[in-house]
Amino acid sequence: MHDFLCPKCREHLRVGENIIFKVKNSKKQSALLLLSPHIGNYTSHKHRTFELQTGESLEYYCPLCNTSLISDIHKNLAHVILLDDSGQSHNVYFSQVVGEHSTFETDGESVHIAGEDAGRYTYFKIGDKFRKYF
Ligand SMILES: [Zn+2]
Repeated sequence: MHDFLCPKCREHLRVGENIIFKVKNSKKQSALLLLSPHIGNYTSHKHRTFELQTGESLEYYCPLCNTSLISDIHKNLAHVILLDDSGQSHNVYFSQVVGEHSTFETDGESVHIAGEDAGRYTYFKIGDKFRKYF
């Protein structure tokens, strides 16, 4: 079973079948948002009072150290670390835009792309920027 870590504090973000994030919407309301740990599965859970609009850009934060998870490769992409079964780290980038399905997972050598909207960001896959985390 793979785990997800905050890139800053390296604490665990996965609990059971959820990755737990703190998010802020465009109205600056904060909430917890639970995402699936399975790449390509875009099921999410939130409290019913927290409003999300399709196309709205959220801000993702680590719920433990409160650091913004915005990546430095694109303002729409958040960054977390995936720890695989063998203990190897992978960088995972996913869209912070509500309803946009694009995820990139890389071990520094190859990039695995998921989501039907990933084409919007594919130019990153050939850059060297994925490598700089290693
Ligand atoms: Zn953290």
